[in-house]
Amino acid sequence: MESIQFEQLGQEVDQFVAGTAVRWAETIEAEGKVSPTVWQGLRERGFLRLAAPRVWGGMELPMEQYLPLLERFSSMHGSLRMIVHVLNGVWRPTASHATPEQIERFVKPLVRGEHIVTFTLTEPNAGTGSDIQTSARREGDEYVLNGEKWLITFADVADYFLLFARLQGTRGHDGTLALLVHRDQPGLTIESMPPSMGLTGTGHGHLYLRDCRVPASCRLGEEGEGLDVAFHGFLDPSRLGIGMTCVGLAQRALDLAIERAKTRVTFGKPLAARQTIRTWLAEMATDVEAARQLCLWAGRRWDQGQLVPEDASMAKLFGSEMLQRVTDKALQIYGGIGYFQGSEIERIYRDARAQRFEEGTAEIQKTVIALAMLARDTKRKPAKAQESPATESGVMPHY
Ligand SMILES: Cc1cc2nc3c(=O)[nH]c(=O)nc-3n(C[C@H](O)[C@H](O)[C@H](O)COP(=O)(O)OP(=O)(O)OC[C@H]3O[C@@H](n4cnc5c(N)ncnc54)[C@H](O)[C@@H]3O)c2cc1C
Repeated sequence: MESIQFEQLGQEVDQFVAGTAVRWAETIEAEGKVSPTVWQGLRERGFLRLAAPRVWGGMELPMEQYLPLLERFSSMHGSLRMIVHVLNGVWRPTASHATPEQIERFVKPLVRGEHIVTFTLTEPNAGTGSDIQTSARREGDEYVLNGEKWLITFADVADYFLLFARLQGTRGHDGTLALLVHRDQPGLTIESMPPSMGLTGTGHGHLYLRDCRVPASCRLGEEGEGLDVAFHGFLDPSRLGIGMTCVGLAQRALDLAIERAKTRVTFGKPLAARQTIRTWLAEMATDVEAARQLCLWAGRRWDQGQLVPEDASMAKLFGSEMLQRVTDKALQIYGGIGYFQGSEIERIYRDARAQRFEEGTAEIQKTVIALAMLARDTKRKPAKAQESPATESGVMPHY
């Protein structure tokens, strides 16, 4: 996007974040839900089609422009941040293996905001990735699905679930399928999850599939490509995005902490005059900037077609751990009153905790990074290196 247009868009985002989004956040916390007006308002402003290609109705912002905007959005309420982050990314896996007919049927309506599609991988009884257990059996031109999915964001409003299953009798990546399952498909039951610690109003769901018949025309890619759709279409750019959402929320916590440190007086002096508080602020600012630069670096690599999974994992790992450190210190600077509902820092602290789970935990990011490092060694020493310690210990590159 041209720089003048981009600057204007940035100003619109800033105004929205400081105005309407604050009012919406109060309503969401009070009512415990995100109203359809919020979805509509975000759509109408064009905030949910920032990254998608122009040919499908998006603005096609490169990561270099998208990430700084995402940072600004991420100082908002966690549910609003989630909507912006997920909807600006879920078109990627949907489109990655789609046929021209599926582009018309699924991808364009998704970018136009006519359909909500949500990423549906996690299961109650399996690790998140190659040991998924939801089973599929082919009968004519349909798949018959059985299994469960849970913790699924926006299950309350999704039109389609981008759902991952496996052909009966297969293991690992083999036999995995990516299917777009309509919420009204017979055999699919959606139950609300209990309210979560933070991200108030983000309607998480528990899905039960009991002989749920899905047309084979709703399969993205080939049989066996399900996890390719999940991981390479979505998770790399999405993990990078999550890294930047951590930066946005941490920056907001830091700004609040600075404000509080300047205005709160104890024993005759503002907190900001105390060396301990200054040290914390300095550490927080350094942490935030380091994460920001790591994300921007990974974003440039994505734009240049050079991003590898470990880059995205590093951005997500560092960003999410940085966010915990920064929000913890911000709450400490705020003092006891910050622990009580109604204070913004209390909500930020709760919202921040979710970021350690989204798009894979720190342990999984470390696995991705370590395996990549070990594989690089392998190339230099081809002889015995196939048996790297990671493989021997059974830590497979699942996500
Ligand atoms: C707010 C929120 C929103 C979410 N939204 C979605 C969504 O929209 N769609 C979706 O599909 N999922 C979603 N999830 C699920 C999320 O992706 C998972 O919670 C996350 O990937 C961890 O998986 P798990 O909960 O099954 O934990 P488990 O796999 O049970 O892991 C428990 C702990 O053990 C660690 N662990 C597991 N395996 C290993 C290993 N091999 N080596 C070392 N440590 C390991 C994990 O890191 C974790 O700390 C959401 C979760 C949250 C909290």
